[in-house]
Amino acid sequence: MKNTTATNRKIVDTRIIYERTRNARTSAKSPGAKANAESTWKQFEDHLVPRLHLSVIDRAVYSHLLRHSRLEGKRDVHFSIRELARRVRISGVPVRDAVRRLVAYGVLRLVERTNAGHVVEVLLPQEIRAVRAAGLEPGRSPIRQRFRIEQTNFLKTRELRRAIHAREGGFCFYCRRRFRPEVMCLDHVIPQVRSGRNSYRNLVSCCTRCNAQKGPRSAGEFLCKLYREQRLTASELRSRLRALEALAGGKLVPPLAPKSEEREPG
Ligand SMILES: [Zn+2]
Repeated sequence: MKNTTATNRKIVDTRIIYERTRNARTSAKSPGAKANAESTWKQFEDHLVPRLHLSVIDRAVYSHLLRHSRLEGKRDVHFSIRELARRVRISGVPVRDAVRRLVAYGVLRLVERTNAGHVVEVLLPQEIRAVRAAGLEPGRSPIRQRFRIEQTNFLKTRELRRAIHAREGGFCFYCRRRFRPEVMCLDHVIPQVRSGRNSYRNLVSCCTRCNAQKGPRSAGEFLCKLYREQRLTASELRSRLRALEALAGGKLVPPLAPKSEEREPG
C-alpha cells in the first residue's frame, strides 16, 4: 500500500472513476504509451482466456478495465465495485468475485483498497506470468496442459496447495470472509469418505470454522445452512451456488506456475 496525500484526495472523491494515473508506477518500457489494441485483443482471446479459463464475467470485467487503463496509456485504474457493475451491466456480487479472481490469477494487481473503491494495476496478457510462461513453451499444447491439470493431485505439494488458496484470493469459499493465509485450510467439496478426489474441482480454500462445521454435508447443503444462519445474504448464496457449479465444471482452474504442472504428471 502506498499512500500519498494526493492519492487519498483522489480516492475519497468517488466521482473520479477511471481517471487515475500513477506516474510513479509508469515503467520506462511504457511511459504512458497506449497498448496496441489489435495485438492486445488477439493475445487476450488466443492466450489469456484459454490459459486461465476466464468466465464470461471475468472477460467483461477485464475488458472494461483494460479499455480504461492500458488503452489510455495508464497502468492503473480506480473504481468502485458498484460503478464497475453498473458499467458492465452485471450485478455487484459476481463482479466483485471476478475482480478477486483476476487479482488471484495475477491479471490485476491490487494497489489500494479503501471504502471508496479499488485501485488496481491492469496487466496486458503478455505481462501475465502464466500466459508469458505458456507462450515460451510452444511445444506444450493446451490439450496436453489441460490433461495434466485434470490428473493432478492438488494436495501433493505445497505449491499446488497454495494454488488452490490463491484461486480464492484469501476469502473463504463458503462464508466469503477474508482471513490471514495461516488460518485458511483446504476442504474437500465432496468428502473423501464419499470418494471425493484431490482434484482442483473438489478442493476449496476455506476458514477453519466452515471446515469444522461442514462435516459430512454436501457443499450445497452447507451453503444453505450459512444462509439460514444469516452468514450469507440471498445474493451471496446464489453466487456461491454458481461458483460451486463452475468448480465442478472445471471452470475455476487454479493459477499454476508451469513448473508445478511439470512436476505433477498425475
Ligand atoms: Zn468460512
